Amino acid sequence: MSNFSFVQKSQLFSYSGTNCIRNDYYHNACQLCVEICPEGAFKVVRNKLTLFTNECIECAACIGSCPTEALSITSFDSNAYTKNFKENENKLLSCKKTTSCLGAFDAHHYITMALDSDVSPLCEMSHCDGCALNQDKKVENFIRLQIEKANNFLTLSGTKINIGTIEEKAVEENTKRSLFKVAFSKLKDAAQEDEKKDSLSMTLAYQKNPNKSGLPLKFLHFKQAIKENLPKITQTAHQINFDLFATKEISFKDCTNCGDCVQFCPTEALLHTLDKQGINFNVGNCIACGICDHICKTDAIKTVEGIDLVDFAYDRGKELVHYEMVMCHECRCPYPYRGGDPICDRCANYRVDFSHVFTLAKDM
Ligand code: SF4
Ligand code: SF4
Ligand code: SF4
Repeated sequence: MSNFSFVQKSQLFSYSGTNCIRNDYYHNACQLCVEICPEGAFKVVRNKLTLFTNECIECAACIGSCPTEALSITSFDSNAYTKNFKENENKLLSCKKTTSCLGAFDAHHYITMALDSDVSPLCEMSHCDGCALNQDKKVENFIRLQIEKANNFLTLSGTKINIGTIEEKAVEENTKRSLFKVAFSKLKDAAQEDEKKDSLSMTLAYQKNPNKSGLPLKFLHFKQAIKENLPKITQTAHQINFDLFATKEISFKDCTNCGDCVQFCPTEALLHTLDKQGINFNVGNCIACGICDHICKTDAIKTVEGIDLVDFAYDRGKELVHYEMVMCHECRCPYPYRGGDPICDRCANYRVDFSHVFTLAKDM
């Protein structure tokens, strides 16, 4: 993650530019929060995400959409809720009774709650219809997609538990702002009290910890839930990634060992081997952000389908590529040898790349 600190804050809602993946890598085009926000409170200005705090109504609908937990609200902590879910007797997730807008959760949260439970959690979807936040059904579609992703994973992993929904239509109608006055007034009062006491939510405390890993807390909880509940998972080897994981391969033929993928990986899922002549991959640290695939100039690194949940839960790494470094006979610089004449790519391509200069010199 980036090492600068940048936070935009309305009364209770925060956007941390430090955690936004767009800031880690200039070409990352994530704008999931922009798309889901019912108020248009996020805008991309000069390729950077900006929160217009006066337009944010602190509804929490965008929070689950952020892959790297750059968004948080002090009135509701989806990570703390998820972590404590196993203690809840009531397994109902309802924006009117127990949680904020269910947009605050993503598939990682749902899977964690399901694995930690003996009965299926139930999401009350009946309030989406007619909700002022649910413009063009964007929030509802997001919630349903996350539940579907979670259930696909849970079913194919052979668990007996999945996420259920309650679909009966509710009759109540609320305006956007009165909705939040009703739903959040108590939570906000409590949060403000907590802030006065300088207490932090689980997520904010994690983010402020200088020793934290680059992984989002929801991902750590998800990994821990898989590890602790492996006995409930009858199928651990899968042919697909569920849009939750990413397995990587590097082509020896194409990789130049430039290290760009290692440098830009936000979670240290990719690391150089100790001798710097290879690249290790830890599947348990990969959040499937796709930065490495995008940044590689030679398309050497690729995402492949398939995941082993035991490898994931236990952070089993593997070496994706290894080189013998040799001295280039032209420039005398070390380079990763891939057979043939001992000449590095730069020297081999030199004449081609600078042919126009040689032509000009010849004509002088
Ligand atoms: S969803 Fe998260 S990572 Fe993506 S643009 Fe918004 S704040 Fe950044
Ligand atoms: S996989 Fe691509 S980005 Fe990574 S070291 Fe090899 S060439 Fe560079
Ligand atoms: S290895 Fe995973 S987390 Fe790292 S850059 Fe690639 S996709 Fe993102």
